[in-house]
Amino acid sequence: MANSIQHHDATGMARDVSRMVRGSETSDGAGVRLRRYIASPELDMLDPFLLLDAFRSDDPEDYIAGFPPHPHRGFETVTYLLHGRMRHKDSARHEGVIESGGVQWMTAGRGIEHSEMPEQEQGLLYGFQLWVNLPAELKMSPPRYQEFNAAAIPEEYRDDGITVRVIAGRTANGVEGAVRDISARATYLDVSVPAEQVFEQAVEQNHAAFIFVIEGALEVLGEARKVAVPAESLAVLGGGDRIRLRATSDTRLLLIAGQPFREPVARYGPFVMNSEQEIIQAFEDYRNGDFSGYRATEVTHDA
Ligand code: MN
Repeated sequence: MANSIQHHDATGMARDVSRMVRGSETSDGAGVRLRRYIASPELDMLDPFLLLDAFRSDDPEDYIAGFPPHPHRGFETVTYLLHGRMRHKDSARHEGVIESGGVQWMTAGRGIEHSEMPEQEQGLLYGFQLWVNLPAELKMSPPRYQEFNAAAIPEEYRDDGITVRVIAGRTANGVEGAVRDISARATYLDVSVPAEQVFEQAVEQNHAAFIFVIEGALEVLGEARKVAVPAESLAVLGGGDRIRLRATSDTRLLLIAGQPFREPVARYGPFVMNSEQEIIQAFEDYRNGDFSGYRATEVTHDA
């Protein structure tokens, strides 16, 4: 490619798209329609990411049933709402509402039983749920919440009109994300790029990374090639130490990266452990009511 500088040193590489994922329509909870990108027939997992769902509908029939009480053990759930309101409530009496632009990063650890229900009877509900694995040594750690409303998420404004909402991780200019101390050392950015502008972000060499185009369209400017990524598509990125992309129209995207754990994964529904024996144990503990009593630590910021 004429305008790319060839680097032979693996630490100076812009990541190429290694795989495009279009997602599959499915439903979960009590009948919430969603599009699943990770944990789908196309992409089983992208260590340390176990699942990515997008839910987007202005038809209440698609979301009103919500996600009644269910358990989690062994990983983290990240709910980021672009539009709408979701109420969450757990069996240890932690409760709150996530609103447009807000995020909840829940470390389920040894166990949480919670419900996630739309706090609206009409209008658009649009958001994402990402599951991030925990390393074996932290799967049975105490539950923890980190919750931030829209105003509490740091934003970086660049001269070229690019805006970066920093949910987790750190931008090149040093803006630190709201969510801290994540085992996978995750980066989670919501980036708005005006048409024709180029956005670049450093990502650690050994981290798994992907982008999801919320609206607009872009080209990933990799070391070897340019790949167009349309709206509502996920692009998995290959090796390299930075991500470069050019918006081909006004574009909003998520950029998500994290350190793989490279540990055995045994998963069944809401439990993600390292062995089948630990899954059986999780079911047994759940039946015995063990998930009801763990009080989570809470970090809540309503700026
Ligand atoms: Mn849940």
